[in-house]
Amino acid sequence: MAGYDYDLFVIGGGSGGVRGARMAAGTGAKVAIAESYRYGGTCVIRGCVPKKLLSYASHFHEDFEDAAGFGWTVPQPSFDWAKLIANKDKEIDRLEGVYEKLLKGAGVEFYHGHARLLDAHTVEVGEQRFTAKIILIATGGAPSFPMEPGWEHGISSNEAFHLEELPKRVVIYGGGFIAVEFAGIFNGLGSEVTQVYRGPQILRGFDDDIRNTLAGEIVKKGVNLVVETTIDRIEKREKDLLVHLSDGSEVECDLVMAATGRSPNVHNLGLEEVGVELARNGAIKVDEFSKTTVDNIYAVGDVTDRINLTPVAIQEAMAFVDTVYRDTPRAMDHADVPSAVFSHPPVGTVGLTELQARERHGALDIYRSTFRPLKHTLSGRDEKTMMKLIVAKDTQRVVGVHMVGLDAPEIVQGMAVAIKAGATKQVFDATVGIHPTAAEEFVTMREPIPGDQAKAAE
Ligand code: FAD
Repeated sequence: MAGYDYDLFVIGGGSGGVRGARMAAGTGAKVAIAESYRYGGTCVIRGCVPKKLLSYASHFHEDFEDAAGFGWTVPQPSFDWAKLIANKDKEIDRLEGVYEKLLKGAGVEFYHGHARLLDAHTVEVGEQRFTAKIILIATGGAPSFPMEPGWEHGISSNEAFHLEELPKRVVIYGGGFIAVEFAGIFNGLGSEVTQVYRGPQILRGFDDDIRNTLAGEIVKKGVNLVVETTIDRIEKREKDLLVHLSDGSEVECDLVMAATGRSPNVHNLGLEEVGVELARNGAIKVDEFSKTTVDNIYAVGDVTDRINLTPVAIQEAMAFVDTVYRDTPRAMDHADVPSAVFSHPPVGTVGLTELQARERHGALDIYRSTFRPLKHTLSGRDEKTMMKLIVAKDTQRVVGVHMVGLDAPEIVQGMAVAIKAGATKQVFDATVGIHPTAAEEFVTMREPIPGDQAKAAE
């Protein structure tokens, strides 16, 4: 390390940065990290974790209703938003402390403040300057706002976690997973929700059967889903907001939330000055080993805009450490990354959509089952589960698993192991189900659906 303060300086204390720093320190490297907001990053502080806590909260509404069919009499429940937010904040504070403790325990020196590069080996954090042999950038992403007039009155998911009260009427703008999840959260907690999306169907990029099934279910639950429509303007009135839509209609509401995408956090990092190339959307360009266009500078996670999920950022960071500090160069495998949408009901998915599978494999066998889950035979709730297997006809490999329904994320995580292992339909058929579960349907679907099912939703 001759001449440098550190072997590694990590910029960004989120999922990728913290894991990279800790693992590198574990190999004996002298490591420092800087974080401008709170250790834990988006996922822990204002993403996956608080989002899922709010999602749990919003599910109780239906649980109380469903209990009646099982013989329970539940007194009229009441909900306290301030208590939920306070309890959530307490847990997030605890997790932030855990992250700092983990860094300390691993021997990583950590700093609070915005970091920027002065040259390829020098980082400035506030008034301090440090040199390092290797730099890892893991600065994540930030919500991007639409440009139409009036958005200064809107919020992003960042602020949604800190609202002083539960809004009575909410407009959510967007069709991606964050938009869908927050529509479900506010709807479940009792707000009147309008979700506006410019495309023809929510969840672009997901399998069409997931998109269509989920859209049907969330509409049944009371979300007013308005597609092929944009927000032209937001008007602030004395007591509320008036949202003007492109179809000429107006929606009165108390809160407008943009969930229209996220941009890589590269602002004021000094990247271009040192020769780190960016893609057109601002994402840092990296090779398969997460190396940027500057030899000693690496980048992982959302700032590289590959697959923007926490476990991916973590695995990219671990592959970086193997490559640079363990002398075992390893590229992260971005194939068959499972993911979930914590909607109501939730979505779990791994592998190819039907459209992608047709492009890649040609002829397919499609297995699909739609049914009412056992729980709802007594609850009486009109909610369907949809499960789908996509099988390449020639090799009989299962190349896509998709589910909308209770416990879908928990179920599909297990399925992801089978997909990663290259399981064929015969292996699924030879697997004994667990009865009575919804998951057993994945190993008991026997007849492919006839005909060509591929239909482009967008
Ligand atoms: P981040 O976790 O964003 O960390 C980057 C950190 O860098 C931040 O803490 C930031 O403050 C800091 N930083 C930025 N610039 C600087 C600088 N110049 N100097 C110092 N520090 C800096 N993923 C899932 O897998 N599952 C989910 O359910 C899920 N839900 C989500 C819900 C929401 C509402 C959002 C917004 C995201 C969600 N994600 C989810 C995505 C997930 O949060 C990200 O993929 C993940 O956090 C990326 O990790 P990262 O290390 O790349 O960046």
